[in-house]
Amino acid sequence: MKKGGVVYIVGAGPGDPGLLTLRACRILRQADVVFYDRLVSPGILRRVAPGARRICVEKKKGSVDLSDLVRRMVREAQAGRVVVRLKGGDPFVFGRGAEEAGALVQAGVACEVIPGVTSAIAVPAAAGIPVTHRGMARGFVVETAHRAGEEAPILATIPPEAGLTRVFLMVVATLETVVGQLLAQGYDPATPAAVIEWGTTPAQRVWVASLEQITAVARASGVEAPAVLVVGPVVQLQGQLRVRPGHRWVRA
Ligand code: SAH
Repeated sequence: MKKGGVVYIVGAGPGDPGLLTLRACRILRQADVVFYDRLVSPGILRRVAPGARRICVEKKKGSVDLSDLVRRMVREAQAGRVVVRLKGGDPFVFGRGAEEAGALVQAGVACEVIPGVTSAIAVPAAAGIPVTHRGMARGFVVETAHRAGEEAPILATIPPEAGLTRVFLMVVATLETVVGQLLAQGYDPATPAAVIEWGTTPAQRVWVASLEQITAVARASGVEAPAVLVVGPVVQLQGQLRVRPGHRWVRA
């Protein structure tokens, strides 16, 4: 196989185009072809060079044929084109970005990773929730809630008293399961919790309630993906911090 070429694996941030990095913007302007995920917002795609081809690689919910995608990227890169693989948030946080990078390198194509602002931290922050706070949370744990009800329960080894904020991604389908598992692990039903949908975008919605009530409150207004769940005392701070106007707030 012919060798050469480079693919830029670029983080698009959580949604707001203002949260793209300068490096991401620069490479988007130079792109000949952009392979992007469904979650990448139209406002971000508008930053792509006008003549570039834009190819959405998620046909259905979350389904990307990795080897087919890698083959296509390799072909474009070896033809000398500037190839961008644009992924939501940070490409290495639950994005299979490292799998794609590994496959590209194996195929003889170099990768450059342009990190992105991850929704795991930025979506709570933009909604007024810091993931750490002196005296409240000494750290945070980011987990996927995908398959929380099947073969992979959420981490049970983190006791509530560890003082770590819990952040769950891919949580909408499994919200009941995740909350049930936290309660079974000894979390106080009164622990503050928040669900943030379409964070940092004009469509953002935020629900704040106790852990015990958060599912009912979010379901009552039809929460949809993408959303994150944040659990821990830091959620209380959300009411104290100034947030941008124009977002819809739902409180229990
Ligand atoms: N690499 C991405 C995460 C990919 S997994 C990152 O670093 O952000 C996709 C999950 O990210 C979604 O199911 C949701 O939980 C979360 N997510 C991404 N964008 C979001 C947004 N704007 N608002 C809320 N959650 C978001």
